[in-house]
Amino acid sequence: MAIRRLVVKVGTSSLTDESGGLRMEMAKSLVSQVARVRDAGVGVVMVVSGAIALGLSQLGLERPQPTEVLQAASGVGQVQMVSALREIFHEAGMEMAQLLLAPHDFGDRQQYLHARQTLESLFALGVVPVINENDAIASEEIRFGDNDRLSALVAHLIYADLLLLLTDLEGVYTADPRSSGEARFIPIFDVEEKEQVRATGSGTDRGSGGMASKLQAAEIAARSGVDCMIASAATPEVVAKVAAGEPVLATFVPRKSVREPARRLWIAYATNPEGRLVVDEGAKRALLERNASLLAVGIRAVEGEFLAHAIVEVAGEDGKVFAKGVVRTDSKGVTGAASEVIHRDDLVTLTP
Ligand code: GLU
Repeated sequence: MAIRRLVVKVGTSSLTDESGGLRMEMAKSLVSQVARVRDAGVGVVMVVSGAIALGLSQLGLERPQPTEVLQAASGVGQVQMVSALREIFHEAGMEMAQLLLAPHDFGDRQQYLHARQTLESLFALGVVPVINENDAIASEEIRFGDNDRLSALVAHLIYADLLLLLTDLEGVYTADPRSSGEARFIPIFDVEEKEQVRATGSGTDRGSGGMASKLQAAEIAARSGVDCMIASAATPEVVAKVAAGEPVLATFVPRKSVREPARRLWIAYATNPEGRLVVDEGAKRALLERNASLLAVGIRAVEGEFLAHAIVEVAGEDGKVFAKGVVRTDSKGVTGAASEVIHRDDLVTLTP
């Protein structure tokens, strides 16, 4: 199948070195491949991480740092990242644009449509959009925190044919090959069979994703009707080859046949829940079997403090979380609420 729309996500560990400096050779290689792909008529978006690492190094700081410092550093590093990339894009005879997105942009229909319109205009103008999370101002609860899920939702946004997640491994293994001698490479990964993999967190202390977050992104992509490939950024010509449909060493995650709405994917995956509602057996069955809204009568306990419109987990009396949803009232108002606490349209049941 010819690729018409492509999202290329490059992680912090691929784009920065141990001291937090930009890997210029890597950046140049990726941009020149992206330029060629665009010249071949493909609408291509880059999702680029590394702002925090670059900013910390620019400010002479080392991790760990409190969130506010990381957020401040992201503002410093983002400028450095895009100014370097812009120069490289110009050398390749191409213009780039910066877009900073937040999880909310995928939960709010208007924001979502605006983002799509802007990306469409950029494609029409031949400009390559370079996207990062708006790290500087998002609060801890409502940040993606990694760009993997962000890139998957961007793939949803532009009806991408493929999401290419570039990392420092050639793809997905059954365990971390850097620490386990028994790790086997998985060429094709089915998102329904997650138990194939003992995925771990970040491979380096600069990036934040790791394989678990790549697999979650691949799952969002699959449920968005988008194929996903996880490959090494260091594989020569990886972007150009993938776009041309040539074989490369990678893990392929095939799409599902249905494309779920972005808002549901946002609820299911995009943000950290801010609280938890424990419901009784009757309410649980109503939600799971009858696709009902959650009413106050079925709620046994409210855990955490949250405002209306927060995303919360819904658990049964056994403590197992089986759904997530957007509450219509704050944590104090939950038990006395006269109408739905979570409307059925804002509730997503989770696959076990
Ligand atoms: N958005 C963060 C940054 O640019 C990093 C996210 C990630 O590592 O995936 O620094």
